[in-house]
Amino acid sequence: MTQISKNIAIVGSGLVGSLLAIYLRKRGHMVTVFDRRPDIRTVEFSGRSINLAMSDRGWKALRKVGIEDQVKELAIPLDKRALHVIGKPLYFQQYGKEGQAIWSISRGVLNRRMIDLAEKEGAIFRFDEKVWDISLHEAKLFTGETEKGEWEEYQFDMVFGCDGAFSRIRHKMQRRSRFDYSQDFIDVGYKELTIPANADGSHKLEKNSFHIWPRGPFMFIAMPNLDGSFTCTLFLPFEGEVSFEKIRTKRDAEDFFRTHFPSVSHEIENLSQDFFKNPTSALVTMKCYPWTYWDKVALVGDAAHAVVPFYGQGMNAGFEDIYELDMLLEHMGDDWEKIFEQYQKIRKPNADAIAELSYRNFLEMSAKTADPDFLLQKKIEKRFANKYPEKWIPAYWRVTFSDRPYSEALSIGDAQEKIMKEIMKLPDIQEIWDSEAIELKILELLSAHEKDSIFF
Ligand SMILES: Cc1cc2nc3c(=O)[nH]c(=O)nc-3n(C[C@H](O)[C@H](O)[C@H](O)COP(=O)(O)OP(=O)(O)OC[C@H]3O[C@@H](n4cnc5c(N)ncnc54)[C@H](O)[C@@H]3O)c2cc1C
Repeated sequence: MTQISKNIAIVGSGLVGSLLAIYLRKRGHMVTVFDRRPDIRTVEFSGRSINLAMSDRGWKALRKVGIEDQVKELAIPLDKRALHVIGKPLYFQQYGKEGQAIWSISRGVLNRRMIDLAEKEGAIFRFDEKVWDISLHEAKLFTGETEKGEWEEYQFDMVFGCDGAFSRIRHKMQRRSRFDYSQDFIDVGYKELTIPANADGSHKLEKNSFHIWPRGPFMFIAMPNLDGSFTCTLFLPFEGEVSFEKIRTKRDAEDFFRTHFPSVSHEIENLSQDFFKNPTSALVTMKCYPWTYWDKVALVGDAAHAVVPFYGQGMNAGFEDIYELDMLLEHMGDDWEKIFEQYQKIRKPNADAIAELSYRNFLEMSAKTADPDFLLQKKIEKRFANKYPEKWIPAYWRVTFSDRPYSEALSIGDAQEKIMKEIMKLPDIQEIWDSEAIELKILELLSAHEKDSIFF
C-alpha cells in the first residue's frame, strides 16, 4: 500500500535506529536520525567492540530491505558451541540441522555499515546532538549541548524512540498516567576482553564455533572476528566468593584466570591491564507499556524492551519489531494510530516472552548447571529430541532458527517442562532414564497434551 510521505525523526543511530531509517526511506518518508554520540564511523576502534550473534529473525529483517548480503560479508557463521569444561576434553555441540548457524558480528562494525546503508537510502544523520526532551502530542524534539543550556526545537510528523535501554523518549512517556515500567538488574556483570589473532592472522581457537567456558555461577565466552581475533566476555557476579569485587589487583586477575580458565588465560591480550582498563557493565531487563503515543511516537528495540543477553536475541528482537511494523505499514496504509496500536499489541507479548526466556537461560546457566536432577532432565530431553526430532523441538531452536512468535517458543517450552516434571517424579528415574518405558511415557504425555493444545 502506498503512503503519504511523512517527516519522521528517529532518536538513536544504533542498530535498530539505523535499520528503521532504511525501512522508512524505502517507503518514501523523510527521515532524520539524531544521536548524542559522534558518528561511529569516525571514532577509532579496533573493530573489536561487543560481538553479537545474528540469527534467523535478524537476517529476515535485513533480507526484506535487500541488505542481507552486505551485512553477511561482515559476519562469521558459527554452526556449533565449543564447550571448554574443566576435567573434560574440548567438545562440540551442533546448533541446528546441517547448514544452520548463528553469525558472529561486531556491533561497532555492523553499526557503521548500517549507517552507511541508511545514508545511501537518503536518511539524514545528526550526530553529536542529544535529545533532551520531546513534546509527545506535537512530535517536537528539543536538542542541545546541555540540559540547562539553549535548546534547538524541531517539528516532525512523528518520532521513533530507538534510544536504547535508558531511553529519553520513554522517560518522557513514563511521566504519563497508566504507563507501566519495570527495570531489573541481575547480580551478574560483564567485561569484554580479547584473544588476538596468531601472527599469520589466523584464529587461535576453532573459528566457526561459539566458545563457552561454563563455570556454574560465572562463565567466559569467545566469538570470532574477521581479523583473526576473538571478542571475549566474562560474565561474573558483582559480589560474593568468586566475583568482580574480589578481583582488586592485576595479580588477582591473573590468578582468577589461571585457576578457572587455565586453557585460555595465557591467550588473552594484556589480561591484567585490560581487566582494569575495560569497564565492568551491568545487565538489565526493562519492560514497559504502552510503547506508542497516539499516531505521534513509538518506541522500538531496546527502548521498548531490553533483555539480558543469554539468548543472544536483543538486537534480533529489535529487528523483528521493525519487520512486523513494516508488515503493518504494508497492509494498513496511512492510519498510523491503528498501525501503532497493532504494533504494540503484536510485539509486547513477544518481547515479554523473550525477556522471560533470556532470564531463564541466565538462571539455568548460573544456578542449575550443578543440580544433578536438572542435568538428568536435560539428558532425557536430549535423548528424546534426538530420537523424535519432529515431536520435541527445543526452545533454543524455536527462538534461534525459526520466525514463529517468541511467545510460542515460551508456551511450548512450558508445556515441555510440565511433561518433564512428570517424568522426573517417576520412581527410579535415575536408573531407567534411558529406557524405552520412559520414551513411551513421554510420548503418552505428549499425545495427552496434543489433545489440549494447538501447539504441538
Ligand atoms: C553483553 C551483550 C551481549 C549481547 N549479545 C547479543 C547477541 O548476541 N545477539 C543479539 O541479538 N543481541 C545482543 N545484545 C543486545 C543488543 O546489543 C541490543 O539489543 C541492541 O544493541 C539494541 O539496539 P538499539 O539500537 O535498540 O539500542 P542501542 O544500541 O542502545 O542504541 C541506542 C542509540 O541511541 C543513542 N541515544 C541514547 N539516548 C539518546 C538521546 N537522548 N539523544 C540522542 N541519541 C541518544 C545512543 O547514543 C545509541 O547510539 C547484547 C547486549 C549485551 C549488553
